[in-house]
Amino acid sequence: MTDITNHLQTITKNIEAAASKANRGPHTVHLLAVSKTRPPEDILEAAEAGQLAFGENYEQEAVSKIESIRQSRPDLKLEWHFIGPIQSNKTRSIAEHFDWVHSVDREKIARRLSEQRPENLPPLNVCLQVNISKEKTKSGVLPEEVSVLAKAVSAMPNLRLRGLMAIPEPESDPVKQREPFSAMKTLFDQLVQSGYDLDTLSMGMSDDMETAIQEGATTVRIGTAIFGKRSYPDKQ
Ligand SMILES: *Cc1c(COP(=O)(O)O)cnc(C)c1O
Repeated sequence: MTDITNHLQTITKNIEAAASKANRGPHTVHLLAVSKTRPPEDILEAAEAGQLAFGENYEQEAVSKIESIRQSRPDLKLEWHFIGPIQSNKTRSIAEHFDWVHSVDREKIARRLSEQRPENLPPLNVCLQVNISKEKTKSGVLPEEVSVLAKAVSAMPNLRLRGLMAIPEPESDPVKQREPFSAMKTLFDQLVQSGYDLDTLSMGMSDDMETAIQEGATTVRIGTAIFGKRSYPDKQ
């Protein structure tokens, strides 16, 4: 068995255990494999092991991998999620190549994605990225501005609003680690109560996955724990 296959099995077990500990069903949490900086071979290896949803941060790198995999393995139906910061000049390519975008944090970007989504594709699934820790340098809409953005996005014809996403500040104190996740769950529930049909709370990475699941994550985004340490640091 390869390392990637091995890691995927371990993570799947850990996800199920964390869900069960939170009195949630074993299949209530989806695993998004974050494949930024990884070569297509690693993605194909994960796909062979049954992992079909992949997250990417950098448009150019992602599109070149998506296209190369489509050519070499047209039989594979992979699902591509864009999870990185979005510049205006990248929206067309993102709208053309991805099934999901987790990192929508302003109306202008959402409008471009909707306008540029090709007619022959289903609506683009969208999560709003929330700057839940209110970090000055972080992308994301502020918590108090989420409902205004949700209203705008849900009216856009080629987008389908699915939920919220966050990247809380890393925190080693387990009690403090829960707070931003719990605040995200509250925001999510408020939107659902006000009538939005949402099913996705995208939060939790390799180091804080269990806590995120405990607090209600429905999608965890895992890179390092599947593919190993990245060889060069993230640009964000
Ligand atoms: C890189 C990245 C991840 C995965 O992080 P790991 O710590 O490698 O699991 C998840 N979400 C986003 C937005 C990322 O940029």
